[in-house]
Amino acid sequence: MALVPMRQILDEAAKGGYGVGAFNVNNMEQIQAIMEAANETHSPVIIQASRGALKYSKMIYLQKLMEAAVQEYPHIPVAMHLDHGNSIETCKQAIALGFTSVMIDGSLDETGKVPNTYEANVAITLAAVELAHPLGVTVEGELGCLGGIEDGQGAGLKADELDAHLTDPKQAEDFVAKTGLDALAVAIGTSHGAYKSGRKDPKTGKMLPPALAMERIREIHKRMPNCHMVMHGSSSVPQELVDIINKYGGNMPGTFGIPVENIQEGIKYGVRKVNVDTDSRLAMTGAIRKVFVESPNKFDPRDYLKPAREAMRDLVYIPRMKAFGQAGHATDYKQMTLAEMKEAYGK
Ligand SMILES: [Zn+2]
Repeated sequence: MALVPMRQILDEAAKGGYGVGAFNVNNMEQIQAIMEAANETHSPVIIQASRGALKYSKMIYLQKLMEAAVQEYPHIPVAMHLDHGNSIETCKQAIALGFTSVMIDGSLDETGKVPNTYEANVAITLAAVELAHPLGVTVEGELGCLGGIEDGQGAGLKADELDAHLTDPKQAEDFVAKTGLDALAVAIGTSHGAYKSGRKDPKTGKMLPPALAMERIREIHKRMPNCHMVMHGSSSVPQELVDIINKYGGNMPGTFGIPVENIQEGIKYGVRKVNVDTDSRLAMTGAIRKVFVESPNKFDPRDYLKPAREAMRDLVYIPRMKAFGQAGHATDYKQMTLAEMKEAYGK
């Protein structure tokens, strides 16, 4: 079986009332860990690559690894998605590589650093839809800006600036109507990376995870019950993963994540795609550090990449697939081709 259009995975998730993890990859071990987890939990899954990942893996390698993944597990529906595409040119490149879904992040300008005007966002998102849909390829857009910077992408907004850049539900309705996109990334106070903008507990003075504007998700869902929403920056940054890194010589103080319960609440109100990147980075780094510290005589990369692959699978991918609800749904439906999706768009 080939890669499936992401739209089908999201439509089926909406029917079943669950969310689907979209996991970022850069290398073989991550792809294998995701596929092993999807196979074990019987989950449909979204695998995504950022521009940084495409550059790191020299594009063609990532494409071939994805082909291997679907060849090994033909019963698992897998969509390959471009994360934070910055231009139509980047989307074209990804589609040419065989990606079945692209994100055009028109919330920022082409440098990926400066917030765009609403009109410019509508124009570029519409252009991406006009490029992708005739090929059966799914489009994700973003309205509002997230905090933090990752892979050079992000306006670097601080906690006090995030509020002004949250997604406006009324504008979201206009945005979806004007562009016809498939999935809408919303800004509700999450940030990319492990150092999310936290807030101080007024009583204890301790730092707490960011307060999320969940009411915006409920409002968007009320206005557009069929709109598939995407939560970015949704790593949970579990303290135990950070502790392993710090125990074995790392230095990562003051990290924050999004509690899984917040994500599950979002899923109840139309969040269908949940982006997770940082957590697998943490699991991989912790496992490698442990081997380096405990067995300083080892120098075969397999001695640390194998535990790294297992840590990502067991500590991140399997628990998230279960928590988001995608587990058990791999063979609920017949996998669609891009040609079939193209026809569905035409109707
Ligand atoms: Zn993102």
